[in-house]
Amino acid sequence: MMIVVLGSGQLAQMMYLAGTPLGLKVVAVDPVANTVVHPVEKNPLPLSVSDAFAQANAITAEFEHLSAEILEQANATGKLYPSVEAIQTGGDRIKEKNLLDSLGIDNCAYHAIYQVEQLDKAFADIGPELIVKTSKDGYDGYGQFRINNAADLADVKAQLAQHDFARNPLIAEQKSKFDREVSIVGARNGRGEIVCYPLAENLHYQGQLRVSLAPAPRVSEAVQQQAETAFKALANKLDYRGVLAIEFFQVGEKLLVNEIAPRVHNSGHWTMQGTSFCQFENHLRAVVDLPLGTTDTPGVTTMINLIGCEKTIGLQVADLGGHLHWYGKDVRAKRKVGHVNFTANTVAESIERLKAVQALNQPDMFPLIDDVIADLS
Ligand code: ATP
Ligand code: MG
Ligand code: MG
Repeated sequence: MMIVVLGSGQLAQMMYLAGTPLGLKVVAVDPVANTVVHPVEKNPLPLSVSDAFAQANAITAEFEHLSAEILEQANATGKLYPSVEAIQTGGDRIKEKNLLDSLGIDNCAYHAIYQVEQLDKAFADIGPELIVKTSKDGYDGYGQFRINNAADLADVKAQLAQHDFARNPLIAEQKSKFDREVSIVGARNGRGEIVCYPLAENLHYQGQLRVSLAPAPRVSEAVQQQAETAFKALANKLDYRGVLAIEFFQVGEKLLVNEIAPRVHNSGHWTMQGTSFCQFENHLRAVVDLPLGTTDTPGVTTMINLIGCEKTIGLQVADLGGHLHWYGKDVRAKRKVGHVNFTANTVAESIERLKAVQALNQPDMFPLIDDVIADLS
């Protein structure tokens, strides 16, 4: 069986690696060059995009910000999972907010912004602290503006004077004073079967995910259930096939959705070592309609992103007893180039590993390790 992934980055690569033992051949489409490439080597394969679509058993995506043209072409085959609607909802914060509201799933108060003056009303109604986000194309905190007071409002309005609102409207979201960020990753197949992983706690630095801890410490049964209820409502409503991730802000015992990602997700990378069936395998199983694998999670896994970090440093971190997943990309500032998973039987063992990472003395590469240790202690 062959699966075509729209997008040729690390997520396609990790799908390929998970598909190999199942006898599933995964190929990737580079959406910029419009070519079919090997998901690891990235060299072009002797196959056109339309031939790959014709031969595929399933087509899926590693990225929600795809052109309408390629999504339409994939959709026309009747083999695109998740659906074009699900992918486009995850790629458009206004569609996403409408879906959450229609299902009664809590999220941050917001205003949709179609012209710059509408920021004044948002500031008056739900300000003064706002996070302004482009509705499309944002990731890793790009395309965001923070407003804390009237001076910031004026400044952000000036920065947005030339913004193309018709192409990419904004949302102005009320800043959440959350206790922490958590996410749920799960899968749904064509028979409507659903599995969810335990919530992960996610630590962000400058808008980018740095560390995930799973299972998140101190999660009550009620909070895990809230997350799974939201997951089921969204996945069923979208008749979803594949892995879906939901990011939440936790405030006390309440979860507010931050955003959804219609794909395998960075905050699920811990599943590569931390559970019996990882998110990549379950995604492939879902899109070709195999039974889903269990999400048993025996220990504690810490996932540390390697961002703008040379491979030698990644190897040093992994030498402390972790699994290195190197994406084979050129290293650039702020670019995710790999991650390391540390699995441990106990929290105490996880803390030992994190202290060893700290002892490498690379605070620029690994911010927040103090916070993670404090959180676990
Ligand atoms: P990615 O898709 O890579 O997760 P993104 O660019 O889509 O990132 P968001 O997840 O919306 O961006 O925001 C990035 C981070 O900014 C959040 O994880 C959170 O730390 C912070 N943030 C975003 N919105 C809010 C909010 N309303 N209140 C407080 N913090 C926020
Ligand atoms: Mg996002
Ligand atoms: Mg996010």
